[in-house]
Amino acid sequence: MQKFMLKLIDGKQLAQKRREEIKRTVEQLKAKGIVPGLAVVLVGEDAASQIYVRNKEKACEEVGFYSEVYRLPESTSQEELLQLIKRLNHDEKIHGLLVQLPVPAHIDEKAVIHAIDARKDVDGFLPENLGSLLIGEPAFEPCTPKGCIDLIKQTGIEITGKKAVVVGRSNIVGKPVAMMLLRENATVTICHSKTKNLKEELLTADIVVAAVGKSNFITGDMIKDGAVVIDVGMNRLENGKLTGDVDQASLEGRDCWLTPVPGGVGPMTITMLMQNTLESATR
Ligand code: NDP
Repeated sequence: MQKFMLKLIDGKQLAQKRREEIKRTVEQLKAKGIVPGLAVVLVGEDAASQIYVRNKEKACEEVGFYSEVYRLPESTSQEELLQLIKRLNHDEKIHGLLVQLPVPAHIDEKAVIHAIDARKDVDGFLPENLGSLLIGEPAFEPCTPKGCIDLIKQTGIEITGKKAVVVGRSNIVGKPVAMMLLRENATVTICHSKTKNLKEELLTADIVVAAVGKSNFITGDMIKDGAVVIDVGMNRLENGKLTGDVDQASLEGRDCWLTPVPGGVGPMTITMLMQNTLESATR
């Protein structure tokens, strides 16, 4: 049997390229007196959230954005948080605004997200933006799905007419990425925990997007030759190692494309946040 080489899609490299493009556009905007601004609000001490927020802050510095980061104590009341959001909604220096999730248990996450002005919802989490995506109107697209589409396009494989299977139906990854694949003219199937014949579905897929949250859940025997596999999963093992939803080892030697974890979808997510903030500033 002919031996192939699994082709890895380098998310780190693509993210770097996109950030350089953003940086150049920011320089042009600055010459016109516009500085894209992003505000990030973090409530509490969650360790992972602190890293994400720091990475967003660093990305802003890198592309030349103005940024404000609010690190609020765990004891912050919902009312105090809503007041801050209201103020940032009206702040002209701020074009993008997000609250790092999860928020502490005493705060209603939905109320917080809904308080954000849809025109500054650069995470693309608000019903206004998700609804616009559904009906094909301009919207802030959620960052991770937006990064997935960019990564698929990097392979040079035409999405139109392809069979795509998305595993996972969350509002932040599975559903929006399925909508975007549909917009790109793929024939899309969405699978989830109640799907009866997951392997059969996957074996029909030219494009697979895995957003399950289970380490090495999808294995090579579920993937057909030539498929493009986008692994959104970010699973932290007990030994601290980060793994995806796809078992990369079982795809070695196969004629497929795969985004590695780490170094695939992850680096694209924050870059797409920068992209959305830039779009907001230029609107
Ligand atoms: P959720 O937990 O919200 O959704 C997981 C989905 O997987 C659900 O729709 C669930 O189905 C489905 N699922 C669970 N078990 C099975 C199964 N046995 N068979 C088929 N489907 C199953 O997760 P998210 O969408 O928020 O995140 C998914 C993964 O992506 C996580 O690892 C997360 O850390 C990662 N992630 C990575 C990002 C990045 O920047 N790289 C950004 C966001 C997320 P059901 O709806 O029926 O319960």
